[in-house]
This record gives sequence, structure tokens and C-alpha cells, in this order.
Amino acid sequence: MQLEILNTGSELMLGRVLNTHQQWLCRRLADMGYEVARQVAVPDTGPAIQRAVCDALGRADFIICTGGLGPTSDDLTRDLIAELLGRKLKEDKAIVAHIEQFFLQRQRPMPASTRVQAMVPEGARVLPNARGTAPGLAMEVSPNPFRAEGKTSWLVMLPGPPREMHPMFREQVVPLLREKFPLDAVFVCRTLRSTGLGESVVQEKIEPALKHLTGLEIGYCARTGEVDVRLVARGGGADQTVAEAERIVQSLIGRHVFGTDDESLESAVVRLLAEQRSTLTLAESCTGGYIGHRITNVPGASAVLLAGLVTYSNDAKQKFLGVRTETLSGHGAVSEAVVREMAEGAIAATGADYALAVTGIAGPGGGSPEKPVGTVFLGLAGKGPTLSLRRSNAFDRETFKFITSQQALEMLRRRLLKAE
Ligand code: ATP
Repeated sequence: MQLEILNTGSELMLGRVLNTHQQWLCRRLADMGYEVARQVAVPDTGPAIQRAVCDALGRADFIICTGGLGPTSDDLTRDLIAELLGRKLKEDKAIVAHIEQFFLQRQRPMPASTRVQAMVPEGARVLPNARGTAPGLAMEVSPNPFRAEGKTSWLVMLPGPPREMHPMFREQVVPLLREKFPLDAVFVCRTLRSTGLGESVVQEKIEPALKHLTGLEIGYCARTGEVDVRLVARGGGADQTVAEAERIVQSLIGRHVFGTDDESLESAVVRLLAEQRSTLTLAESCTGGYIGHRITNVPGASAVLLAGLVTYSNDAKQKFLGVRTETLSGHGAVSEAVVREMAEGAIAATGADYALAVTGIAGPGGGSPEKPVGTVFLGLAGKGPTLSLRRSNAFDRETFKFITSQQALEMLRRRLLKAE
């Protein structure tokens, strides 16, 4: 079966918005065993959208089209597709009621233009949008005038905003796709997410031990500070093959595996803290609150995070964390002694069970022969001896902050797992 993605939006062409739908959809589909054969992005203009839909209908069995379902003058996808397929648009009363309710709940007047989102092409299924006003639409194009012998195609339209599109895809498009185009064979996919080892080291460690598992496909995806190992098998026995592969990988690099499938390092840390009913305080210097940002992106962070102190200056380190003047003058702000006092001071100041502290030189200035740019000290205090680590993260400032936050979170994860 041929599956295609069509992302509409002039903002994508202008580089104002990164086309995350393309990656997000391909990733979800691939993990379910559906391969995307083609993905195209086009501007919001009528000819571009109609041409792209026409082309896709000429080839594909299932097309997922995103964007352009909103109320503004550049949101034309619904009208253009209805016109192309010769389907009349009719107002759907239930959608009008949903839009009215949406504005009522937010105590805002409903602009007349939003009503256009209730127009549904003849024969289309409405995919309700719980997080916005524009519903999605699914149309069976049968017979399909653009395809040899009129072979049927499905065309699904989803709204552009990711927070609306993602749940609609999961809850409504996936069941439709599985119903209309069931896979020929069982497909099992498991992704193990690791940190602290490079891609080639991961491969060297695990691949020889997985060789005997016939039918196992192994994929690696390296991102800054992380390596994903994707284990896939198809057909009879796929479940057992992937389970055995996962057992082997865990036995070889399990210390470095922080999560499976979509779990991030910060969500693993928040989960472990919550399971252990423990609390955390952060004392950040060079990361400027980035660790706090990552932790607070996780739902449920308020149950575990007591405070995030961004103590950038020496004064702030002394005032809020009790770092001693002698320690700062004797060792410098970027030092093992200071990071230990920062972590211990954060616990003393807030009563948290654990504290993570970081101090370093992000660069490009500020380095010295003993402490070059990229030098960072990480500290962990609470429920065990205070631990400190020195790392060398000589990257651009943004990467420096990410890698440093990754190392700090991993340090805490190891302590929570009693696996230091
Ligand atoms: P709206 O009701 O918000 O207008 P819409 O269905 O008309 O929704 P668009 O106008 O195409 O959608 O896009 C709305 C916003 O959604 C964009 O400004 C952008 O922030 C985001 N968006 C759209 N397409 C993508 C994409 N491919 N990747 C990431 N974000 C996107």
C-alpha cells in the first residue's frame, strides 16, 4: 500500500515554521509498520495544493494532508479539495455547536469567520478536534478519477497546530488506517533510548550478541547526547524475537538505557522521583534554568520539583546557596568545591531530598589553560555521599546547555536507580 504525506503552509516554504509534522507523522507510522512512500510540502496557494493533491491521488492509497483548515483567508485546503473532487460543502450543525461552545468556555466572542470550519464536503467523515475549532476530515475517494481503473484512495485532512493534530492522528487516523489497510503481517517495534555512549560503541556492544536472532532488524538513531536503538521484527514469533533482543540489549547496555519508545530522560527522572516520593531542587549556573525547563516540561513535575535556583553570579551562589567566600576565591566559581557546596546548599535552603548543581564555562570567552571553554562541574547531593563530576563539553552554547543538562539528569537517574 502506498502512503503519502502532504504538508501545506506557506510558512513552511518561508522557513518561518519547521515542518515537524513530517518527522512526527513518519516516526509514528514507521513504528506501527507503515512506510511513508513520499512526503511533500507546498505553499497555501490554490494551484499548489490542488496540484499536489491531484498527484498524490494518482498514486497513493492513503494520504494525510495537514494545515489550512482554519478560519483565515489563507486556510483553503478544505475548499480546494472539495472543488477538486466536485463535492459540495454543507454546514454541519454539530461542528457549529462545538465552535460556539469553544468560544463560550473561553468567554470570548465567536468571530463570524470561524463558521467556515463547519463546512463539510459531501460524503466526508468528520474527525472531531477536542483541542481546537477546526475538525479534521476523512474522505473516501471512490472511484478515484485520478487513478488508473479508479482505484479507491483515502484522503485525510488534519489541522496544522501540532497540539491539535497529534491527538487527532493517534485517536482517529490510526484506527482508520488500521481498519482500511491492515498490515500483511504482525509488526513489532521497540525503541530503547540510551545516553552516555556513542553510536558506534552502542553498535559494537550489542550487535554481535543479536546476530543469532533471525528476522531482527536493528536501527540506530544518534542525536546530541542520545542514541536510540530500534528493534523490529515481522510475522510469526515477532513478539518473542523483539522481547529477546530487548533482554540482550538491556543486559549489555542497560545502565545507559533511560527509557523506551517515547520516554525522555527528564520524564524518566520525574517518574522515578515520583515513584520514590522524593523531591528535587536545582542549583544552575551555566545552564541558566535549562534543567528546570526540561523537568517542568514533564506533566506531574510539580509533585517532585521544589525549586530551580539560577545562581549565575558569585553573589547569588553565596546568598541563595551559602557557597563560602573562601571556596569561591580559593577554587574559582567553576570548580568541584563550588559545585559541591551549591548542591549541598540547595538541599539546606529547600529541604529537598536531592539537589543537582552545575557550574561551567559555556564560552566562547572565559576559558583558561586549566579550565578551558566547555569545562563543567556537575554536583549531586542527597540520600548518599555528595558526588561531583568534571566534564568537557566544548560545543556552541545551546549544545553545551543541552549536553550538560543531559549529564546532570543522568547522574540523578543513576542515583535514583542505585546504579552509580
Ligand atoms: P489554524 O486554525 O490555526 O489556522 P490550520 O489547520 O489552518 O489551523 P495552518 O494555518 O496551516 O493550520 O497552521 C497553523 C499553525 O500550525 C502554523 O502557524 C504552525 O505554527 C503550525 N503548523 C502548521 N503546519 C505545520 C507543520 N507542518 N509543522 C509544524 N507546525 C505546523
